[in-house]
Amino acid sequence: MVKQQGKNSYTYYSDEMTAKAKKRLYLEQEIRHALDNDDFYMVYQPKIDVKTSQVTGAEALIRWHHPIDGFISPNDFIPVAEESDLILKLDKYILDKVISQISHWQKQSLNVPVISVNIPSREFQRGDIVSCVQHTLHHYQVIGSQLEIEITERLLMDHCEENIKILNRLKDLDIHISVDDFGTGYSSLSYLVQFPCDVLKIDKCFIDMLPHSKENCQIVEAIIMLAHKLGKDVVAEGVETEAQYQYLRALNCDQIQGYYFDKPLDILDFAAKLTKCDVRNINTSSNRHAC
Ligand code: C2E
Ligand code: MG
Ligand code: MG
Ligand code: MG
Repeated sequence: MVKQQGKNSYTYYSDEMTAKAKKRLYLEQEIRHALDNDDFYMVYQPKIDVKTSQVTGAEALIRWHHPIDGFISPNDFIPVAEESDLILKLDKYILDKVISQISHWQKQSLNVPVISVNIPSREFQRGDIVSCVQHTLHHYQVIGSQLEIEITERLLMDHCEENIKILNRLKDLDIHISVDDFGTGYSSLSYLVQFPCDVLKIDKCFIDMLPHSKENCQIVEAIIMLAHKLGKDVVAEGVETEAQYQYLRALNCDQIQGYYFDKPLDILDFAAKLTKCDVRNINTSSNRHAC
């Protein structure tokens, strides 16, 4: 009886493993196919300056509508790409899409805010992310300060020393660095001081409980104070309510991102939010890309 149960559970477990492996293989193959067919696209979620209520940034987020399976969340396919070398190809593809889009908007004389791209830092160890970014910026004639790279705190903590070197090389290109999902990755304070980052992005899980949970309020207040003492800006992600917004405003949070202001927008809706450059600035070479 016991043996049979053991046997049954073993069979069940191995079936489950096989199903998972099959699903992963299927997704891998479909990602490869989607890359070849250019089936992915980017949406842009505005970041709002709390003091001025202006759009001062945006996060580029990937989207995929599979012809048979429908919408597949990046939470489901990015980890599969990360487990194989596909992530290298996907990141190049995303950088190309985002930087060419910035260049396109600039050619339309739009005031393009800093656009951030998510890069899994595990990739830092495998591909040469710095030369890829440098090459793509150069190719589309976009300056580094137009771009921000978001790296999750959790992944940043692996291979800390190496990551700090790579981040410094990105900073040399004037690229902004943001620590994503801050508060969930247990950064050691000594590393936080060493990370050459400009922005801490407080994870949505802390924002969700504002302003009702006293503990979360204290955590968010402490993060904002710490960031400001270290000379960094703070972005709160996943802001959904007026109460959360008002609370963050009172705490001097710098930027807000969330459904309360905007969901991620397609390129036309996002461009509609951008103002035109002052024509007097457009043709001077020093301002051409910065406007
Ligand atoms: P993330 O970088 O922390 O991105 C924020 C996620 O929160 C996005 O989900 C965004 O749509 C969602 N969000 C923003 N405001 C709100 C809000 O007010 N309420 C709620 N409920 N959600 C909000 P998304 O686009 O599904 O992306 C999920 C994760 O997938 C991202 O987390 C990021 O880790 C990854 N991801 C998305 N796009 C890319 C990409 O282009 N490259 C890489 N490597 N990863 C990506
Ligand atoms: Mg992000
Ligand atoms: Mg985030
Ligand atoms: Mg998050």
